[in-house]
Amino acid sequence: MSEEALYMDDSYLKEFDATVIGIKDGKHIFLDKTAFYPTGGGQPCDYGSLIRKSDGKRFDVVNVAKMDGKIAHELREPGLQEGDHVHGGIDWERRYKLMRMHTAAHLLSAMCFKMGAKMTGNQLGTDESRIDFDLEQFDKERITQQVAMLNESMKRDAPVKVYYMDREEALKDPEMVKLAKILPPAVERLRIVDIKDMDRQADGGTHVKSTKEVGEIVITKMENKGKSNRRVYFTLK
Ligand SMILES: [Zn+2]
Repeated sequence: MSEEALYMDDSYLKEFDATVIGIKDGKHIFLDKTAFYPTGGGQPCDYGSLIRKSDGKRFDVVNVAKMDGKIAHELREPGLQEGDHVHGGIDWERRYKLMRMHTAAHLLSAMCFKMGAKMTGNQLGTDESRIDFDLEQFDKERITQQVAMLNESMKRDAPVKVYYMDREEALKDPEMVKLAKILPPAVERLRIVDIKDMDRQADGGTHVKSTKEVGEIVITKMENKGKSNRRVYFTLK
């Protein structure tokens, strides 16, 4: 029993048809395929609904998370049965905001890397997101300048591509070595998110297809979190 994660190859898929292939505790539903993104990699899950085809009854999806490696859709109320055919729909407004935020976070991490800092974590939100990075010298003015330059270059409409690469192949590419090393050896095939000429990393999240769609990054707060850990909050315009 393993599902097809449709969002991996099509971030813009909003609706889909699927079959219930498993249920846990009455309200955790497993599907043969799904466009619902489960919480992970700093990106919060999708919300939405599953509509049973036999009677049109609607079940709200209030949380999506991986359970034993499989995508579990938590329903507000139980009622779906194994074998039910459903039509799924995700809350697109929420997802699209998170996609823009996720691509923005990758661009910011590339910017930090150029400044000699390494990103150590991120937490995306629909209204505000934050990234943490490791940097001794915290020059806030310089960061503000860099973000202004980044916003300018985002207007160039750089395409964001998603493709797969074998781990072995990735290790031959000096640029990819750093990201291949941080992944567990069990991962044989890497999913690469490539923002043309700006950033490239292995990632499981959903992204917009062009930097233009991100809009403009606005830094809302910068703070120190320990000796060299810096935290930057941002929103999008
Ligand atoms: Zn990411």
